[in-house]
Amino acid sequence: MCIFCKIINKEIPAEIVFEDKDVLAFKDIHPIAPIHILIIPKKHIDSINDLEERDIELVGKMIFRAKEIAKSFDIFEKGYKLLIRTGEWGGQEVPHIHLHLIGGAKLSEDIRPII
Ligand code: AMP
Ligand code: ZN
Repeated sequence: MCIFCKIINKEIPAEIVFEDKDVLAFKDIHPIAPIHILIIPKKHIDSINDLEERDIELVGKMIFRAKEIAKSFDIFEKGYKLLIRTGEWGGQEVPHIHLHLIGGAKLSEDIRPII
């Protein structure tokens, strides 16, 4: 079972900030900004590459939830970034789709290729 499925099953601890039947959100263990939260589907899906048409609503729920969490953490007005890494070149480390919600400070533009 993947590490995020273990968090869903409460087999390993996490600082959970939201949970419903479809989605779980918890604080990233190595935050890169004052607010860094991961929003994941409870259904295990390896990556964006593995999405199926029936998952479209689930992805919408993840993004909607990111917005609601941004509001509750008071970063809604100033703005924030949402990020989903995919595959090796995208820098994905955990093979369970996760949406990063990053904010609480003005963020750099650093998403360019390594030359
Ligand atoms: P990515 O590189 O997009 O796959 O992001 C994986 C993220 O998961 C990283 O930001 C890690 O800090 C975070 N992470 C890994 N293990 C845990 C954990 N047990 N609890 C919370 N966040 C984690
Ligand atoms: Zn999983």
